[in-house]
Amino acid sequence: MLNLIFFGAPGAGKGTQAKKVCEKFNLIHLSTGDILRAKIADKTEMGILAKSYMDKGELVPDDVILKMVENVIKSHPKSNGFIFDGFPRTIPQAEAFDIMLANLNMALSDVIHLKVDKDELIERLKKRAELENRKDDSNISIIENRIVQYIEKTAPVKEYYSNQGKLRKVEGIGDVDEIFEKVVEAIS
Ligand code: ADP
Repeated sequence: MLNLIFFGAPGAGKGTQAKKVCEKFNLIHLSTGDILRAKIADKTEMGILAKSYMDKGELVPDDVILKMVENVIKSHPKSNGFIFDGFPRTIPQAEAFDIMLANLNMALSDVIHLKVDKDELIERLKKRAELENRKDDSNISIIENRIVQYIEKTAPVKEYYSNQGKLRKVEGIGDVDEIFEKVVEAIS
């Protein structure tokens, strides 16, 4: 099994690269953001709760996310592996995820960190707002709040995995296919 985490700030290109890598290695793309948006579209109870956080650029509570991830993993018992895109996003999520993986007899291979500087991130998110009509990309203060959340709550997750020897840094600026090659090289 190949289990990867794609880590990076909002707009770093995790989703784009995750889709390509999933195709190459026949993995399941588990994007917590995409799953939450699907739940919002279906107007489920979880979706309505998640929306109240997402629209402000806040993180959805850890327990909601963890249950959701576990359910998706369990619904694919025969997969070649997963790419976790946008998860874990807090230290408590990362700690609980280690326990979850051990209980499911799964191991994490690598954590791919896509590095992009802040000015480029803001430009990309503004562009995406026009293309995808995402509420959380639509206004500069929401975008900035997401970056603040990333710096305060998510960036420490990097050190958590670097302490486990699993962090692989990839420069996220440049051509999509060139970045893809570097991502594939970084997978051990
Ligand atoms: P981006 O990486 O561009 O911010 P995502 O689609 O990954 O976009 O996430 C959108 C929003 O969904 C986040 O701002 C947050 O509110 C929520 N979300 C997604 N994944 C998580 C997570 N692992 N923990 C908490 N909230 C999450």
